Amino acid sequence: MVDTHHQLTLYINDACSKGCSFCFIPDEVKAIDREMSIPMLERLIDEVGATHFQIQGGEPTEHSQFKEIMHMFARKNVTFHMLSALLFSESMCDTIIHYINTGTCLSIHPNCAELDEVWGKEDKTRLERWKRNYLRIYEAMFKRTNGYYAFRGDAKQWAHNNLSLCYTIPQNLRKNKSKNCVEYLDWLRKQIPDQFHMIRVGLDLNGTYLLHNYEVGDILDDIHELAQKAGFGFFMDCQVPHCINRPGEARPWHDDQTGMQGCITCTGSKGIEVMPDGSVVHCFQSQGEIGMPNVIPNIFDFDYAKGDKWPQLRAEHTRKYVETYNKIGAPETCQQCPHFQVDCNGLCMGCLAQQHETDKANKIEVTIA
Ligand code: SF4
Ligand code: SF4
Ligand code: SF4
Repeated sequence: MVDTHHQLTLYINDACSKGCSFCFIPDEVKAIDREMSIPMLERLIDEVGATHFQIQGGEPTEHSQFKEIMHMFARKNVTFHMLSALLFSESMCDTIIHYINTGTCLSIHPNCAELDEVWGKEDKTRLERWKRNYLRIYEAMFKRTNGYYAFRGDAKQWAHNNLSLCYTIPQNLRKNKSKNCVEYLDWLRKQIPDQFHMIRVGLDLNGTYLLHNYEVGDILDDIHELAQKAGFGFFMDCQVPHCINRPGEARPWHDDQTGMQGCITCTGSKGIEVMPDGSVVHCFQSQGEIGMPNVIPNIFDFDYAKGDKWPQLRAEHTRKYVETYNKIGAPETCQQCPHFQVDCNGLCMGCLAQQHETDKANKIEVTIA
């Protein structure tokens, strides 16, 4: 059995050349171009006790030593899954498939937005290269006959574990070429009709625009309808407050900040996120002046007591989130909402911290404190 309990989520590099319009990593951060070194990754395994990694960036395959990193993981018998745009070369695809076959790479969650865009120097849409890599990786994973993520007859569950696609609904609801979000997903599933089983949908958690935003809620209702009709599954990433849907029955995808234990993704099993400089963050969005620049300045220097380091890291995570959220306070709209402190503790810190940063940049008086 794979031990995913001792999991770290690593931003192994800042860089990404893909230029997705909805990307939450600002260009200035990508330009810093930091990379985690292999000795640092080895210390996370040997000293901190990590046995499984979620690898992300930037685009992780643009790390200058990504192949060597996979090799080191295999040598040290640790496993990983990763987020990637899947637009890499055939040679990178070959190497990744090798590590799928060795049981080192357990799953990949491919970004699948904006594939109808033309990109780079190639006068082609992204879809062509993405599809080539996706189908090869799908086949390699499907052939796995043993291990935690082997196919056991339920395509949705299998894809959820191995290859759930990732799609973000952009804040400005920008159309992909001539298609809106739902038309785009309908188009995409037809490109890979027998290999489209599960998609993870994310909201742009950059600001307070989500409060009572029925336009976004209606899109989720429409995705739900399409999923039912076309037989694929979808689940949400991060917080989805009740107020984005018109009043009525709670939708299965509503997720809130339960019990003030931190945001929903923090309860129970949220990975401990580590930046290239070794700092531990709650999540990318919750950083910032009003949020938490970090939870722990450096994961190696934390004052650990004897024993398992994971419960200590999690406890510090929750303590810092609750402390900072209490300091910021929920927006006025939340405090007057019937859901507040019944089944929602208000918009997450990721949204609030980013709203503060935007307001500050626009020299607008801050209204969320
Ligand atoms: S591939 Fe990922 S990191 Fe790169 S621009 Fe797109 S969303 Fe951002
Ligand atoms: S408490 Fe705030 S975030 Fe939660 S449902 Fe109400 S208005 Fe939305
Ligand atoms: S605080 Fe961060 S991890 Fe939690 S729901 Fe918000 S964006 Fe997601």
